[in-house]
Amino acid sequence: MSTELNSIPCRSCGQTNLAPVLSLGHTPLANALLTEAQLAEPEATFPLDLVFCPDCHLVQITETVPPETLFRNYFYFSSFSDTMLKHAETLVSRLVETRRLGPDSLCVEIASNDGYLLQYYHQRGIPVLGIEPAENIAKVAQEQRGIRTLCEFFTQDLAAQLRARGERADVIHANNVMAHVADLNGFIAGIGLLLKDHGLAIVEAPYVQDMIEHVEFDTIYHEHLCYFSLSAVDHLCRRHGLQLVDVERLAIHGGSLRYVFGKQTAVADGTHRVSAAVADLLQAESRLGMDQLAYYRTFAARVEQLRIDLVALLKDLKAQGKRIAAYGASAKGSTLLNYFGIGRETLEYVVDRSTVKQGHFTPGTRLPIVGPEVLLTDRPDHTLLLTWNFAEEILAQQTAYRQAGGRFIMPLPDPHVVA
Ligand code: ZN
Repeated sequence: MSTELNSIPCRSCGQTNLAPVLSLGHTPLANALLTEAQLAEPEATFPLDLVFCPDCHLVQITETVPPETLFRNYFYFSSFSDTMLKHAETLVSRLVETRRLGPDSLCVEIASNDGYLLQYYHQRGIPVLGIEPAENIAKVAQEQRGIRTLCEFFTQDLAAQLRARGERADVIHANNVMAHVADLNGFIAGIGLLLKDHGLAIVEAPYVQDMIEHVEFDTIYHEHLCYFSLSAVDHLCRRHGLQLVDVERLAIHGGSLRYVFGKQTAVADGTHRVSAAVADLLQAESRLGMDQLAYYRTFAARVEQLRIDLVALLKDLKAQGKRIAAYGASAKGSTLLNYFGIGRETLEYVVDRSTVKQGHFTPGTRLPIVGPEVLLTDRPDHTLLLTWNFAEEILAQQTAYRQAGGRFIMPLPDPHVVA
């Protein structure tokens, strides 16, 4: 990989000094669930290589799968997760109050999904605009929730068009989308264009520090092009006349950061006060060495150790005659199972709450996807929790299975069985 690396520009700063961190080989697309008919056909695979930019500190993958290929059949509906909904409602309540939002405001969400977040503004009579490229999902937002939704990818061009039509936002949300964007600079420039002069952008993305420290390598898949640190986002924002005014650590998705930024001019004129949290976390990252390649160098060895430990645990259970299923036909699960080589010889099926996923098969490993009620009727001895980021919620939902003797296996950072 390293021989070709010197020709690949960084997704943020454009420098060509990218350094290898971890190679996951060639894998199928993590969300490309298969129908029964597709089981007879070969699956497309793409290289998955994680690298670090020493110039702007951005961790990223080198391959860009075209979004038309990635998102054509997108199965993830945010509203299926109670944790996500609660998280969104809390954030909206806080912003409505602190930003004094009302009927003259406009709140935009980029990648608005089924309107899971904007619904809370809409219910309070605050005008909203959702931007969501997946047709089937945009339709749900529009028709079932009455959320004004543009079915498009958010780009700098789209932002310029909206601005020309007089659409300017008081608040722009972008949750778990910045990592998916190939034109990262266009995306941030677009936010700058669409934002009112005194507006705020609130962007959430998984935090690379949590990924590295907790060996969450399964958050690496082709949809996630970038793995952000505060330092990397700081470089990115400044390049586009924007400035971080606050940052918050969130437990969601295995550890995320919520970046709040506005225009540099609005910081200069005193509209936005810059929280001490920004400088504090930048210093903390620097102390850890997150701006240096050395910090990322041990990651591959730790992932390899995790593979050895998890495969040994599963093998041991199988040797005892235990039957094992998995929970969560997620992209994370796809990376973990494919890279660790865990398939039908170990797992019987995957259960998932999403009715649109049921009846399909997991990419690469081709495990059948069934409803979670199967855990109770079929009673596998153990269930590997692939969506460990929703562990608390899922363990609570599965009380009956657990009381009947079912055990969950937590895959990382240290694989273990929980009652
Ligand atoms: Zn860079």
